[in-house]
Amino acid sequence: MTLDVGVIGVGMIGQEHIRRLDGGAGGSRVVAVADADAGRATTVADGLPAAKVLPSGEELVASDAVDAVVVTSWGPTHEPYVLACIAAGKPVFCEKPLATTEEACRNIVDAEAAAGRRLVQVGFNRRYDPAHRALKQAVDGGAIGAPLLVHCAHRNASVPAHYTRDMSIADTAIHEIDELRWLLGQEIAAVQVLAPRRSSRGGELQDPLLVLFEMADGVLVDVEVSVNVHYGYEIRCEISGETGTVELADPAPVTIRREGTVAGLVPGDWRERFALSYDIELREWVDTVAAGRPPQGPSAWDGLVAQVVADAALQSLHSGGRVAIELPPRPGLYAPATAP
Ligand code: NAP
Repeated sequence: MTLDVGVIGVGMIGQEHIRRLDGGAGGSRVVAVADADAGRATTVADGLPAAKVLPSGEELVASDAVDAVVVTSWGPTHEPYVLACIAAGKPVFCEKPLATTEEACRNIVDAEAAAGRRLVQVGFNRRYDPAHRALKQAVDGGAIGAPLLVHCAHRNASVPAHYTRDMSIADTAIHEIDELRWLLGQEIAAVQVLAPRRSSRGGELQDPLLVLFEMADGVLVDVEVSVNVHYGYEIRCEISGETGTVELADPAPVTIRREGTVAGLVPGDWRERFALSYDIELREWVDTVAAGRPPQGPSAWDGLVAQVVADAALQSLHSGGRVAIELPPRPGLYAPATAP
């Protein structure tokens, strides 16, 4: 059966996802789009054989033509669209963050728990990246013994002018927040954010940041968030365990040796580095919801926990010091299938 998808928000990642969803390997097509920028919606729909522009996200969710919804509008707009999908009983794939406040995420979790079935999946795509999956497999398989320390880096070549210091946490490091919970099977117990000397390449922006996480079992994690490195987009993760270490390999497909140097290409941006993860993420989502099964990927609960941790990190960034994390009670709907 073909899954007929509606997409709300057809900016950068909306168009990336549409490319995969329309006529994609999983048997889906895009039948409706909506965007605050009506001109952009029309341009995107014009390039798709079956898509209509609908005047609003609410009308898209309500449309009988739409089986399932992808929300790729800006974070602060996610909550009402996801709630409308739950009310309509339609599966919804919502890009990260699930919503931008703990309260909004809780509203979604409460609504889904009250509905009694999982409909929401959050776009934490690291879980679908083959390299990250291999990292998790090595840890889970005992290849390095019990994990002790984790060193991560999240480096962007550059960011748009409207990017703020808080976005380094709420939009960027939120990927590591979900990755660490998934990779280590542990909740994050506390966080501290440190601001080193500012890079002159970021103008007035406080860049980089160093984020320190304490996992519930005592594993310590450091994450460098740098968003103006200029040389490319780089994601690093090394886990140090009792009997060995495991790290993400260099993603360059080839290494060039010439004139006394060794070089490999660095991906330009997240689209290039994580292309395969988006392919797998959306194919698995389409396969699952088209078969009438609940989504198996990152849940609304995972979205809420990530937001609680991000809020604690922002508190540390603004006021300094270590902030302990207290999670709300987890509704039964989310236990125990979603890690941790
Ligand atoms: P973007 O390029 O700015 O696209 C967002 C689109 O949504 C724009 O066309 C925007 O229109 C539209 N929009 C804004 N408010 C809306 C509303 N209320 N209803 C419908 N459409 C609305 O942003 P993006 O970079 O694609 O990011 C979108 C989301 O994806 C964000 O939550 C972001 O964090 C997430 N993201 C995830 C990844 C990942 O790796 N998982 C990567 C990139 C982005 P205007 O331009 O007129 O405001």
